[in-house]
Amino acid sequence: MKVYLDNNATTRIAQEVLDAMLPYLTERFGNPSSFHSFGSDLMEDIEAAREKVAVLLGAHAEEIVFTSGGTESDNMALISATAINPLKPGLVASTVEHPAVLETAEYIKSKGYPVGLSEVNGDGTLNMNSLERLISEQTGLVSIMMANNETGVIMPVEKVARIAHEAGALFHTDAVQAASKIPVDVRSSGIDLLSISAHKFHGPKGVGALFIRKGIDIPPFMLGGYQENGMRAGTYNTAGIVGLGVAAELATAHLSEENCGTELLLEKLENGILEKCPGAFIVGADVERLPNTATVLFRGVESEAVMTLLDLEGICVSSGSACSTVEESSSYVLAAMGIDPVDANTALRFSLSRYTTGREIDYVLEVLPPIVEKLRDISPYANR
Ligand code: PLP
Repeated sequence: MKVYLDNNATTRIAQEVLDAMLPYLTERFGNPSSFHSFGSDLMEDIEAAREKVAVLLGAHAEEIVFTSGGTESDNMALISATAINPLKPGLVASTVEHPAVLETAEYIKSKGYPVGLSEVNGDGTLNMNSLERLISEQTGLVSIMMANNETGVIMPVEKVARIAHEAGALFHTDAVQAASKIPVDVRSSGIDLLSISAHKFHGPKGVGALFIRKGIDIPPFMLGGYQENGMRAGTYNTAGIVGLGVAAELATAHLSEENCGTELLLEKLENGILEKCPGAFIVGADVERLPNTATVLFRGVESEAVMTLLDLEGICVSSGSACSTVEESSSYVLAAMGIDPVDANTALRFSLSRYTTGREIDYVLEVLPPIVEKLRDISPYANR
């Protein structure tokens, strides 16, 4: 049995998405920017996809710019928005942002502009006092993710947007993990810029979008063509964009179906783990989290060992963000929450998708507890 519970790293492409994309990789291969109709007719399909993405976010179609994914959307939002007003070149983000934001923040800082990173609380929520202290007259952009990729903890974006606006700054949110899992409404939330990525919600890899609220005039990010109204040059990834559109349409439909999602299965998984693995600790258990994500500390048992044995049984989970698994250090997100590094090294992230089944969760609850128990018996850290 293969059980894939690493959906925050990436998801399987939905069959409907694949079916919609295939013609654009075969007979409909034209360039949408061409003069002739074989190419230019494809603009209609690009615009239809734009509309579907806009519906998912509560935006207008003309506010959506297609990109190559979440990383590019985050780079574009931060670099372009801090360049609008020379009197307000500063950025405030948080210590638990994705590296696409953190490393871009580091780049902005290296140019000599003020950058501050807000702290988080022990439960993974944003520390509002820390955030407010960092915002100054020089702050042009505040960027706080809608939900964290490792813990699933949901951030108070409406509140942060209000605080940013009071200081005359714009507000960006990285909604790469949140979009499709919780309702997103850019209008009522006061969001100015928002990043999404198709492969996190059953679309293809290498395509995403940035929402830019109408009236915000940010400079272009990629130069070399006038695609996307000159905001993002480069030949259209037609198949990818069509796939993103269908994935967004499916996500919108699934969000409106009651209890069709992952919430009940996640609850079953968490309760089963707490019951069968004594000492297991769910990170952010008491705060609002995405309905598909649980990071669990199995204190005394190194996560790498558990992951390896689970892998042998066909179960895929992760020890945090996919992007940091090659690094030796433990999760910077858990460190920012004040979790002891030894305990952080025992963290496993389970991330479900709408394709996850009850049988798969039963299988995990059958296989995981004896693995944890066996490893704990031989671990030198078990009785710290
Ligand atoms: N932001 C968050 C919160 C993510 O989880 C990820 C991917 O893991 C990204 C940005 C980067 O997205 P992409 O893989 O589309 O570049």
